[in-house]
Amino acid sequence: MIGSSTSPPAFNWDTWYASIGGRQIDIAEADEILKQIKELQYPRFTGEVNPDQKEFENVSQASQAIKEKAKELGATEVGIAEIEASDIYKGRQIDEKYAIVVGQKMLWRKFQEVPSHESAVECLRVYFSLGEVVIKLAQYVRDLGYTCKVEHPIGDSDVLHIPLALKAGFGELGRHGSIIHPTMGPLFRLGSVITCMPLKTDQPIDAGIAKFCDICRACRIYCPAKAIPDDRSPEAGKDHLGNDRYMVDTGKCFPYFAKHNYCSICLPVCVYQHKEWAKDYEGFKTKLFPEINMEDPPKPVDPEAAKHWYPKVKR
Ligand code: SF4
Ligand code: SF4
Repeated sequence: MIGSSTSPPAFNWDTWYASIGGRQIDIAEADEILKQIKELQYPRFTGEVNPDQKEFENVSQASQAIKEKAKELGATEVGIAEIEASDIYKGRQIDEKYAIVVGQKMLWRKFQEVPSHESAVECLRVYFSLGEVVIKLAQYVRDLGYTCKVEHPIGDSDVLHIPLALKAGFGELGRHGSIIHPTMGPLFRLGSVITCMPLKTDQPIDAGIAKFCDICRACRIYCPAKAIPDDRSPEAGKDHLGNDRYMVDTGKCFPYFAKHNYCSICLPVCVYQHKEWAKDYEGFKTKLFPEINMEDPPKPVDPEAAKHWYPKVKR
């Protein structure tokens, strides 16, 4: 299956960093994690497939086994979705039918001040940790006798994690462009394993989160780059509930994100069920609302060579 003509091209990090004069985040711990992802994880994306394929009684049993394994490996949430052409980046091609989508929570205690070195390192820590989950889950699928591919949370994926996670029941799409999970809020990362192993898919949810976003504007107010919109935009396509999507202006967000520790302000300030997810369950003393460092935004950029799929509107 190939990516649909209306799919976005894959986000080209190098081009975007080049458009702002290079990556401007200088944190030794973050660089070390990036190095470990490339050196210790990328070479483990492939492996032997067991020729003795395990037969499950039905697809529900197969899905149950996969989900239990994902949780055992450290996933906070896991769901399964059937892949459609619109879930594949333009120009990419895959043979797999299903995505096993996994999510892992980031720690609230690390987002007490945003953007900060601590919040930036936490994003990368979870990219690495969730990377281990998808790599080991992929090996489990191969051990069961089925082929699969790793779609690393930070890597150059063929598939779009967010629409797949929405179909797999992770939550609803927030005004800030990230998924809001009913209990994890927006503070988590996504990765996937894609496979043709016959599986039972999950259902998307309608918990009223998207409707809540229509009356709340907290992320928009706190976005220092003014990249989060007031209104939904028909140009951005529909979410899984049929709503026009909110269109975050990537050309405004990225320069701020790349200069200020991956920004992330829009996540910890998200108001939906804030008291429920914005706390630490391990006895750490935390504030209910983070300290926010808002600087003047750099000029917007729109690299021609690899435009992100969101066109600039109402700028
Ligand atoms: S990451 Fe920062 S700049 Fe980007 S949309 Fe969120 S708050 Fe705005
Ligand atoms: S802060 Fe409010 S408007 Fe923004 S994503 Fe969260 S709930 Fe939606």
